[in-house]
Amino acid sequence: MVKKFCPKCRSFSYSAKTQGRWICPSCGYDLTLKPILMLEQSDRTDVSQIKTSQAKK
Ligand SMILES: [Zn+2]
Repeated sequence: MVKKFCPKCRSFSYSAKTQGRWICPSCGYDLTLKPILMLEQSDRTDVSQIKTSQAKK
């Protein structure tokens, strides 16, 4: 799971996918071209099935 920062409403948008169109659910801003941010540990809720580029320790 990853997140992107929306500059319009200044909040984070979360998604399980990193490809395709990414629209901010709060304000409708197009975040598709914004850089993908990794979730911090504290943000994790149910990501056990999500595979990342790094191997899990
Ligand atoms: Zn927004």
